[in-house]
Amino acid sequence: MRELVFATGNEGKLRELSALLGEGWRVRSAKDFPQVPEVVEDADTFEGNAAKKAHAFARATGLWALADDSGLVVDALDGAPGIHSARYAPTEAQRIDRLLNALADAGARSARFVCALCLAAPDGTTFTSRGTCEGEIARERRGDGGFGYDPVFLLPGGRSMAELTRDEKSAVSHRGHAFRALLPTLLRAVP
Ligand code: IMP
Repeated sequence: MRELVFATGNEGKLRELSALLGEGWRVRSAKDFPQVPEVVEDADTFEGNAAKKAHAFARATGLWALADDSGLVVDALDGAPGIHSARYAPTEAQRIDRLLNALADAGARSARFVCALCLAAPDGTTFTSRGTCEGEIARERRGDGGFGYDPVFLLPGGRSMAELTRDEKSAVSHRGHAFRALLPTLLRAVP
């Protein structure tokens, strides 16, 4: 069995990665290594934060480690909430309310989800990928799938990200693109 630790406690992300890897892999998660100290995500880029987490897990476990960092980048807000997406307001509902208020008078509502992935070897070597998903911020919520900003993120076809099935989201999402971009490297590099 090839082994990899994904530095996340998010079951949805784990399922998505496991589905891509297929048979023959044992994917561990952050929950399997509670002794690894919480990583402070204080880098100023998505890539920087993903690298910090991947390095910390590779070092602490001796396994190859994968980590992601993602967020929503809104053009009219000069890129906010960006790397601060998870901390933009205390709850998911309040984060969306703050975003809609901030855009109340905005002319353009273009935005993108961004995901950086970093794969780190126990010896410190890293490989990075980035995936994006372009869209627009809606004026009100639509759909009840997904998580985070999905109900107010409109895709070019007009549906919100929260109206997609899990497979549909994976096919177009920033995280899906980043995973698929890194996959050939991962399959080649991890023993
Ligand atoms: P993290 O990379 O899991 O820490 O996610 C950062 C934050 O970005 C999340 O808490 C969400 O607010 C937002 N975000 C990242 N990916 C998505 C997505 O696929 N849908 C909606 N919100 C997302």
